Amino acid sequence: MISLPSYRFRFLGEWLFLACCLVLAGGVVAWSLFEEHQAVDHREQLHLAAQAQVVEANIGRQLDALSRTLNNVIQNVPTWHKQNTVVVAGSLRLKAFADAMVGIRSFSIMDKHGVIRASSRTDLIGRGFADRPYFQTVLKQPDPSTLYVNAPFKTEQNIWLLTVARMIPGKDGHFDGLVIASLDPEEFRILLSSVNYSPDMMTGLAHGDGVHFMMMPERKHLVGTNLSQAEPLFNRYKQSGLSAMVMTGFSPALNEERMVALRTIRPAALNMDKALIVGVSRSTETLYSGWYSMVQVWGSVYAILALFSTVMLAIWQRRRQRETESAARAAAALREQNTKLAEANVQLEAQSAQLHALAFQDGLTGIANRRHFNERLQKEWRDCRRHQTHLTLLMIDIDHFKLFNDHYGHQAGDDCLKLVAKSLQERLWRAHDVVARYGGEEFVCLLPNCEPVHAKAKAEQLRMAIEALGIPHAASPVNGMVTISIGIATQVPGSNSYPEQLLSAADKALYAAKVAGRNRAVADENTNLDPQAIAD
Ligand code: GH3
Ligand code: MG
Ligand code: MG
Repeated sequence: MISLPSYRFRFLGEWLFLACCLVLAGGVVAWSLFEEHQAVDHREQLHLAAQAQVVEANIGRQLDALSRTLNNVIQNVPTWHKQNTVVVAGSLRLKAFADAMVGIRSFSIMDKHGVIRASSRTDLIGRGFADRPYFQTVLKQPDPSTLYVNAPFKTEQNIWLLTVARMIPGKDGHFDGLVIASLDPEEFRILLSSVNYSPDMMTGLAHGDGVHFMMMPERKHLVGTNLSQAEPLFNRYKQSGLSAMVMTGFSPALNEERMVALRTIRPAALNMDKALIVGVSRSTETLYSGWYSMVQVWGSVYAILALFSTVMLAIWQRRRQRETESAARAAAALREQNTKLAEANVQLEAQSAQLHALAFQDGLTGIANRRHFNERLQKEWRDCRRHQTHLTLLMIDIDHFKLFNDHYGHQAGDDCLKLVAKSLQERLWRAHDVVARYGGEEFVCLLPNCEPVHAKAKAEQLRMAIEALGIPHAASPVNGMVTISIGIATQVPGSNSYPEQLLSAADKALYAAKVAGRNRAVADENTNLDPQAIAD
């Protein structure tokens, strides 16, 4: 059991311990969730980057094939000019290329004035497109080694097209027109859709200048917008100067936070004037949804654990507090009871001592009673037998006491008994000598180690002492005073003798003293008296 003041400190310690445990558990949970968040983040970054790489590889290969086809056409252009068969032969060849290559919408040859001279689409032949940005770009910076990737534009049929062109060099290398291929948007749709592995994914393709070309799933309102102005994530990528990057941030174009992997498509073998940029993105809300659920589960588990442990500790402490307090109360009650018992015990012992004393004391005279005498007789008998010494017994009786009572009254008789008892006791000095009231007006003296001669002398002393009290006894025929008669018996106890024999002998001697006239001491006939010794 703990003491009352110390349990408060212990309870405080338990609360501190619980708080530490909860903080530790909270730390472990928070750290685990943080680690899981990092893992989800890392895993998703890898996945998105891989998808962007797939798109880059596909479009890169397509651009490479396209570049080689354009070169092939350019090499044939002089021949067709010589044979003056540009329109027919050229168009046929271009149609063959367009049909053979996947993702090509049209091939055209333009002269240096922007007029289409040959095309896989015959409806375009003879039409002028000198005002188109892609023609102007090549016209301003003509370079035979450059693959011109032009910004998307909207056709007369309301279709957004991406065109790739190469310059046709004249005899002296000057600008002599261009060969242009327009890419089929449908082909891009299939490719971009194929890398989306979850419903929240979006894969887009933009021109290096920032003009948005396509997004899958489709977001038609975004096509043709300039991402350099509308999309901070695109700008961050452009400013980084990297060729691939994964980042997370808010996309105003899609109006939500997204993780996006951006990658530049610019095959090393091609000298492209502008790159294409592919972006593969996911909604962070969706990609972290599993993690958010985990946070909720662990948060709930932690909250329940914290609540449960707090309530349980409070209940446990309350119970122990009650137990401690009731134990303290019980201990205090026990102490009080013990004190009371100790007091009662002292009282009982005192009472017991009193009772014991009373049990061996005569109520009237205050000297030993008959019971005490009997016990002492047995004991002294044994002692004297063991040491083979004399044991003397004096049987004393007040003479004519009935007459005293009759004459002076019972109360006076009691007073007389007290005086006689006191006087007898005062004349026994030795430690083992006993005087007791034997009954009525009879007394006995037990004198261990007292030989017959000394017994007779002692008896005589006692007799004279009572006579000397001078208590008037007008009714006594002896001498008008209270007197006593004494029977003396002395014996060395043997193995065949008993204390009762000594008593009987003393009684007989007393009777003899009475018969002889009272106020005298008479020895038992077996008690050997030596007159010389008495005189001493
Ligand atoms: P004897 O000389 O032969 O002994 O005659 P006695 O009268 O003394 O003897 P007896 O046996 O005839 O009478 C004893 C009397 O002692 C009787 C009784 O009234 C009286 N007595 C006994 N005990 C007490 C006592 O406690 N108080 C008083 N006052 N008297 C007592
Ligand atoms: Mg008597
Ligand atoms: Mg008498």
